[in-house]
This record gives sequence, C-alpha cells and structure tokens, in this order.
Amino acid sequence: MEWPAIALEGVDKVFDSTKTGSVRALVDLDLTVERGEFISIVGPSGCGKSTILRLIAGLLPPSQGHVAIDGTPVKEPRDEIGIVFQRPTLLPWLNIRDNVLFPIRHKRGESGRRFHGEAQALLDMVGLGDFSSHMPDQLSGGMQQRAAIARALLLDPDILLMDEPFSALDALTRDEMGFELLRIWEERPKTVVFITHAIAEAVLLSDRVAIMTERPGSIRSVIEIDLPRPRTFATLSSPRFLELSNEIRAGVLHRIATAA
Ligand code: ADP
Ligand code: MG
Repeated sequence: MEWPAIALEGVDKVFDSTKTGSVRALVDLDLTVERGEFISIVGPSGCGKSTILRLIAGLLPPSQGHVAIDGTPVKEPRDEIGIVFQRPTLLPWLNIRDNVLFPIRHKRGESGRRFHGEAQALLDMVGLGDFSSHMPDQLSGGMQQRAAIARALLLDPDILLMDEPFSALDALTRDEMGFELLRIWEERPKTVVFITHAIAEAVLLSDRVAIMTERPGSIRSVIEIDLPRPRTFATLSSPRFLELSNEIRAGVLHRIATAA
C-alpha cells in the first residue's frame, strides 16, 4: 500500500495560555494529500490555516489526532520539508545570497559553493538577480518574501508548505510568481500545500482546493480542479475557471450566506 504524502486524521489543536485562556484552533480535521499533488487551503482569517502548516511541518504537536508524512507520525521538523512563512523571516545579518544558501549550508552541512549558480538562477527567476549582495533591510517586504521563496525552492524539497506566500506582492508580480511556481512544480514534482486568501490563485494553481470552516477550523469541502495543465493566462478566462471560482467562493461564504 502506498501512503499519502501527508495525512491529518481527527486533528484537534487547542492553544492553552494562562493569559488569554484556551483557544480551540482546529477541531476534528481530516485532510489527505497525495504525493505530487498541489493542494490549496482557503478559509476565513483565524480559522487555523497557519496552524495546519505548522502541524505538518512538525513545529507544533496536535492536541488530539494524528499527523503523518509518508505514513510516519510527525514528531519533529524534518529537512525534506520546505516552508515559506507568511512573513519572510530572513536573517538580517546575511546578504540575500547567503540567506538563500543558509538552509543548504546548515541543514545539509555543505559549503553551498556548488549551489551558487542555482541560487543565482532562482534569484533571477524571482526578479532579484541584481540584489544578491544586498542586505534584507535594503529590500521591500515583497522582495524579501521573494528571497524567502527562492530559499525554499533551492532545497528542492519533497514537500513544500507555503503560507500566503504571495500576499505581500503586487498583483502583476503575484501572477508571474504563480506561473513560475507551477513551472518549477511541473519540472521537479513535489507535494505542495498552498495557503491563500485569493480564490482565483487557488483555482489557477491547484489540483484540489480545500475550503475550511470558521474557527475552530475543519475542512468543510474539497473541490477538484479539473482544468487542463499546463495552466496559462488563458486558463484565467475559461468558463470552467469562473465556474470553479464561484463554487469555491460560495463555499467560503457559506456561513455568512446561511446567517443572512
Ligand atoms: P489563520 O492562519 O487561518 O489566520 P492561525 O492558524 O494563525 O489562523 O490561528 C488560528 C487560531 O489560533 C487564531 O484564533 C489564533 O489566534 C490562534 N493561535 C494561533 N497560534 C497561537 C498560539 N501560539 N497561541 C495562542 N493562540 C494561537
Ligand atoms: Mg495564517
């Protein structure tokens, strides 16, 4: 039997704090992601999307239920997972190139020399080719985020977790980065879990889109995105694209609509 790349089963997550009391972030959440799949998660803010990524990444334990990668329970962070956080998290004392090379050097214990060319190619791809010697605080928030994306891609991880990675980018750069991400994903197959607020982005990129409920979050429904690949600008104006986007919008707005 082949295990799914990622499986969350009956997951509850409660944050206990003496100051604020306990917050139930996730309740009875089930989600399975197949190897090589590109799945997006959409849902209202505060519903637990980032918490799901931190559980998969092994940065947080579940309060109840199981989280497994390739059938093995997640106990701690693993090297073969790449993460792009909501904020860029660059090291302020390293220039952009050394930030991008940092995980290779420190997780894999390599000097990183043989990755210089690839690091530069990735920086070119995200539009930062001329900024590799700059320090993070010399770049805008969006540029820093693009450097963080290059850093995750350089690892060529089996599993790539992305938490609203494009939200700090302007609309044009955002579309471009989406297509670049798809190109890389098609060239070097990997399992991608992508969190976004943008429904069109989720539909454009994904094999499936999981819609979450309000907090405490669980998966309300999962929509199969049966649009042909490769996806292009033309995809964005196809009737099926609009149909799927509307279906997901209705799913996200479900509670608001039924309350009205
Ligand atoms: P989303 O990413 O969907 O906006 P999060 O996963 O960041 O939501 O958070 C879900 C809920 O859990 C929120 O109510 C948030 O305040 C709470 N939460 C997240 N992390 C912590 C934490 N470390 N301690 C206490 N509460 C937390
Ligand atoms: Mg979040």
